Amino acid sequence: MDRREFLKKTAVVAGGILLASPLASVMASDDRMKQRIFHSDEEDHKMTYRVHHGSGDKVSLLGFGMMRLPDSQEKVNQLVDYAISHGVNYFDTAPMYKGGRNEAQTGQALNRYPREKYFVATKMSNYDRATQQFDNARKMYENSFRELRVDYIDYYLLHGVGGSGMDELRRRYLDNGILDFLLREREAGRIRHLGFSYHGNVEVFDFLLDHQHEYHWDFAQIQMNYLDWRHALLEKGGWKHDADAEYLYNKMEKTGVQTIVMEPLRGGSLAKMRDILANRLKALRPDDSLASWAMRWVGSHPNILTTLSGMNEMSHLEDNIHTFSPLDPCTESENRLLEEIADVMAGFPVIPCTTCRYCMPCPFGVDIPGNFAYYNETVEKQILPLPDKTAADYLTRKQQFTEGLKKALPDTTTWAGQCVGCEACLKKCPQQIRIPNQMARIVETMGQ
Ligand code: SF4
Ligand code: SF4
Repeated sequence: MDRREFLKKTAVVAGGILLASPLASVMASDDRMKQRIFHSDEEDHKMTYRVHHGSGDKVSLLGFGMMRLPDSQEKVNQLVDYAISHGVNYFDTAPMYKGGRNEAQTGQALNRYPREKYFVATKMSNYDRATQQFDNARKMYENSFRELRVDYIDYYLLHGVGGSGMDELRRRYLDNGILDFLLREREAGRIRHLGFSYHGNVEVFDFLLDHQHEYHWDFAQIQMNYLDWRHALLEKGGWKHDADAEYLYNKMEKTGVQTIVMEPLRGGSLAKMRDILANRLKALRPDDSLASWAMRWVGSHPNILTTLSGMNEMSHLEDNIHTFSPLDPCTESENRLLEEIADVMAGFPVIPCTTCRYCMPCPFGVDIPGNFAYYNETVEKQILPLPDKTAADYLTRKQQFTEGLKKALPDTTTWAGQCVGCEACLKKCPQQIRIPNQMARIVETMGQ
């Protein structure tokens, strides 16, 4: 269906509601919106920006997560004013935040600025059965325009896919025709970029990215921070995902889908940690907050479009703006230190391999369960994780690890280093272990 046919059909289906709504006014200008470029007063601030590969949008590396806004509209306006005057231009909300009031608060604050001053993101939060009916979901979508006082949405997301697996994805978006509808809305220009926010079930994540040729996602939003990078399987205070952020990020980069990050501080846990860990960071950068380390770590990844932070206090906003104005990327040794801290925080968990051997044979000869069994054994014996290279027992433990490996797997052609990342084993593992990533981790550990 071409655009003219679509607009004709939409007008009939909407029965006048659409034509009476602000949406109708954008029909003639969709091409302009698709190519919209953000203009900022760059000379006034030093914010770091990333460019969206498809549209050319110049998005601030710090994005404003509006979910936890204060009740007072005056305070919201003050926060937004400060953010915009320091170069922040990405604002993320959703119909379900703050009991349904968050979009209106966001709209009221942003509407005081010219439309080209900001990018606004909102979502299809059709979690309950009633809003999964096509007409109700569509009403939710149309209401977002009214609440936000806009006639196009810059970044629109399927909200929280993966929470309850493929059945839920089908029920919320596929079987009811909502995803098809949103794809048409993007074609018509009322949605400039279409993506999804992901929580939990990696089968859903893989399905959506493996259908990139069909859906052409413009971006996707994931939970990513230096703890979830390799320890997302940890269950701590209700947090549990079945794939590490490292896997999600790498797959998105490979698929050509840019990443928007949520929870860079892992619900605040990376902004306050045991003194023994915090002191290691403070020793290197005494003036920097713990939060700034986590934000810098995220921002240092090149495929990140923006990093959302829920800033309900001016001090949080000031600190984050300072961190990204401009970004001072993490060095290799800083990355290594954060990795060590994450390992300590996580207790360096073992790989949950049951040695069922469903993944075998590997076409490149890797003994997958054998490598995992040995790795787990060394973790249990506290040979791994290796200490810092300057530690007195570093060399002894490294030698212990290598000698043990030679005994456990005498044939070196079965070692993790033979893995070429072909992913032939990936879908065969009932534990959903990201096997190639884990192999790379073992290789890295051995090479330290
Ligand atoms: S990803 Fe690695 S371990 Fe898995 S089948 Fe391919 S080469 Fe073998
Ligand atoms: S299929 Fe998964 S759990 Fe089974 S041996 Fe392979 S890696 Fe281990």
